[in-house]
Amino acid sequence: MADKKIVIVGAGPGGLTAGMILARRGFDVTIVEKQAHVGGRNAELKVGGYSFDTGPTFLHQKFTLDEAFQEAGRDSAEYLDFVALDPMTRLSWDGVSLETSPDPTRMAEGIARAFPGDEEGYRRFMADHAVKMRTIYPCLQRPYHELKAYLSTTLMKALPYVLTRKSVVDVLDDYFRDDRLKLAFTFQAKYLGMSPWRCPALFSILSYTEYKYGIYHVRGGLCRISDAMARVFAAYGGTLRLEAPVKEVRFSGARATGVTLEDGTRLDADDVILNADYAHAVTTLMNGRSRPREEMERKKFSCSTFMLYLGLDTIYPDEPHHHILFADDYLRNVEDIQGERRISDDMSIYIRNSCVNDPLVAPAGKSGLYILVPTINTRHNPDWRTQAKEYRDKVLERVERRTGMKDLRQHIVEERMITPQDWRDGLDVFMGATFNLAHTLDQMLYLRPHNLMRGYENLYLVGGGTHPGSGLPTIYESARISSNMICDSHGVAYERADFASALLA
Ligand SMILES: Cc1cc2nc3c(=O)[nH]c(=O)nc-3n(C[C@H](O)[C@H](O)[C@H](O)COP(=O)(O)OP(=O)(O)OC[C@H]3O[C@@H](n4cnc5c(N)ncnc54)[C@H](O)[C@@H]3O)c2cc1C
Repeated sequence: MADKKIVIVGAGPGGLTAGMILARRGFDVTIVEKQAHVGGRNAELKVGGYSFDTGPTFLHQKFTLDEAFQEAGRDSAEYLDFVALDPMTRLSWDGVSLETSPDPTRMAEGIARAFPGDEEGYRRFMADHAVKMRTIYPCLQRPYHELKAYLSTTLMKALPYVLTRKSVVDVLDDYFRDDRLKLAFTFQAKYLGMSPWRCPALFSILSYTEYKYGIYHVRGGLCRISDAMARVFAAYGGTLRLEAPVKEVRFSGARATGVTLEDGTRLDADDVILNADYAHAVTTLMNGRSRPREEMERKKFSCSTFMLYLGLDTIYPDEPHHHILFADDYLRNVEDIQGERRISDDMSIYIRNSCVNDPLVAPAGKSGLYILVPTINTRHNPDWRTQAKEYRDKVLERVERRTGMKDLRQHIVEERMITPQDWRDGLDVFMGATFNLAHTLDQMLYLRPHNLMRGYENLYLVGGGTHPGSGLPTIYESARISSNMICDSHGVAYERADFASALLA
């Protein structure tokens, strides 16, 4: 296969996964990346002597990552030092908190303490969702570029879970009485950048997956995953070109023939894979075929995030690794975000204090704090330049008030901020929608941009904008699906790694 050339635009998690799998299968693969580093939104962000993850901090469904490495002929454990978290996340409402655990006994005990009587609902939820997960999971592993995919028996079985007008909150109404506890099983909709009151019911599998299979940290940060993938890719002879922005894809009829870089370099290819943010790519990189922004703006997009990366001259050892502070009026907060106009002052805040489990990310005796505030995307052009500083102060004031870090502001020695505008303008994220196209029923499966782009014979998508969706495990899966389609088109045999079946059985 060394005679078949693949060019991948973007070295985010999707591009790197496809790169290492295809290079291992003998293709001549070149990844071209605009930035000076790999990882995209999953890259390392250096602030002084502190190392942060730019984006992902929760690794769920680790078995999918393990499968991706396995398909590249490698064992993920030889490259990455995984830390299984237990407790996983502290969830705090005003006055009550719950530490989540993958251990069923500890989780039930925690629920009984914070929400007496609701522990039975937890056991029922987990039992029911084992069946739901087993039914839905296989549907996420296949492409939907042809309508006949809907006739598969796997999808037929899953349809009752998919074709319902219920939201994830509606699902949880059947299990818990306390609204706050329902949020502990529905806030994961935020991983898709969506309101749990609007997120389709099938996504209640997200909290199940988290509470059943746990969440992982990677020592040094989740950005190490992208670095490791780049090393595997290089070991198979893959070519990585950094600081090589692609200007446009070149075409001949329905075939992509390669890409042209901003500096004029032309790279020919038998197949092209786009990993750049989907809506950004199809509105800017498609040569004379780019789609108008207005057309793309008619689609539904996820929320954005307001980010603070703080280097502290101290460590807060009693603060947990992951901590979510829910807004006082959470429904109003998510409706504000979904409405895409109003920046909530009553915000929810996610804080990550990974130094308690990882000495590699800050100088000795110091720590780095990652703060993420879900907020509106840039559809209606909020002017963050004029309000970012004031918003930062409100966020920090709330963190000091609602956590044990009462003197936080006195310990900040380094600081970096990323606003929705920065995601859009500096990091090429369309509309600053950090979690990509929304995962509504009308933008999923066949109705989501296909892994083999509609209208083209050899232009593939990987990443959060295609099937199955945004989030690291689904992005790894998207890369596996597209890679397998490329292999099928060239008659290249491959073995499928499957760690999931045994775990889901
Ligand atoms: C703040 C935040 C927190 C998140 N947290 C989690 C989490 O905890 N768990 C989880 O599972 N997921 C999380 N996600 C979602 C998702 O996992 C990440 O966004 C992921 O990095 C997306 O991967 P991707 O492959 O789709 O693309 P990206 O990471 O966006 O990579 C695309 C790459 O394409 C490059 N590119 C763009 N244009 C060009 C061009 N013209 N030429 C060459 N290269 C180009 C970009 O520079 C970039 O490197 C989070 C996302 C964000 C933003």
